[in-house]
Amino acid sequence: MHNTIEHIDVFVFEREPNQAYLGDVSDGDIQLNEHHFVRKFNGTVYPLRDRSVVVRIIDKDGVIGWGETYGLVAPKIVAALVDDLFGPYLKSLDPMSPDKVWDAFYSLQRNRGYWGGYLADTFAAIDIALWDLYSRAQGISIQAAIGCAGNGKVRAYVSGLPKNTTEERVELAQAWQAKGFDQLKIPISATQDGDVPGEFNALRKALGEKQKIALDMHWCKSTEETITIESAIRPYNPWFIEAPTLPEDVEAQIRIGQSMPTPLALGEEWRTEWDYRLRKDSCRIVQPEMGHTGITQFLRISKLAQANKALVMPHATIGMGIFMAASLRAALAVDAAAHEFQHTIYHRNGALLEGTASCEEGYFDIPDTPGHGVVPNDEGLGYLTLLQV
Ligand SMILES: [Mg+2]
Repeated sequence: MHNTIEHIDVFVFEREPNQAYLGDVSDGDIQLNEHHFVRKFNGTVYPLRDRSVVVRIIDKDGVIGWGETYGLVAPKIVAALVDDLFGPYLKSLDPMSPDKVWDAFYSLQRNRGYWGGYLADTFAAIDIALWDLYSRAQGISIQAAIGCAGNGKVRAYVSGLPKNTTEERVELAQAWQAKGFDQLKIPISATQDGDVPGEFNALRKALGEKQKIALDMHWCKSTEETITIESAIRPYNPWFIEAPTLPEDVEAQIRIGQSMPTPLALGEEWRTEWDYRLRKDSCRIVQPEMGHTGITQFLRISKLAQANKALVMPHATIGMGIFMAASLRAALAVDAAAHEFQHTIYHRNGALLEGTASCEEGYFDIPDTPGHGVVPNDEGLGYLTLLQV
């Protein structure tokens, strides 16, 4: 008889943020309620609070695993799926084979076309918790469970410069550079009057030739607009261009990726390796998001991409930080080229966890401690509310 899962609990994590990632709510944005608003520039809903869904599983020996996924919208969806389907099913599966559990979950509804979305986010939370439990039960780290034991460093790139003017953003980028962070990504919305080349010119002049500067286009441009913007910023040596056009438009992604000398980066919205397989001829950088993929699909996407000579640079979304800790362990194991560093929240929410990896002088410093290395501390537990269906 294999080990069994005895308990699975789903919590919502919620906390007032200290700074909005893309800046504050502004003219033309629509505030829906206390949780959400819609950005005018790309029509996408964004949170007003840090919010995610946290899962805790406990096996028959009392070993605990923690996982996390998105909870930005309707976090009770995850609790409902766990209550109705995945909780009961998990109790019949072997938790010492997390990847097989993921496959078993996916098989339940793949033939009905349920290939992603909230369903796969639910798998991701459970998958992270299972990998955590699986490795803790053996007293080893997740990177060791993947087959790459040891501590190590992962390069961090600074994500976003949340200031109102180009001058202030340049100053903030210089401050990060002085602290040893010489890789940076800016969102297209944070430019003076939409002048992307002007923003790149100012940053390049101030930061020098060695600084890496990437552009996140937040899915808001057409193929032609993207190609025009890329050629306009090419004199400033952009590092990569991320998510330029509609996320489902594979044809456009392939055309853009094959037209631009600047590498195309995609992947923060993907759930599975199937999302990458469709796009393998488009992007030279993949950005798996642990909160959507879990460890199982993060590893499969990374392996396929690396076999195709693409670089892995994981995305980092906003939450409590459990998925971030898991992402760093997996990034170390696959030798990721860099990892996104959400500097406005990483240390703030990381303080709610025991064991958060440090991020200093341009690198995350990842220890070889059991599991993904983090557990909510007493303060962190205070931000978790059990979700009842
Ligand atoms: Mg992005």
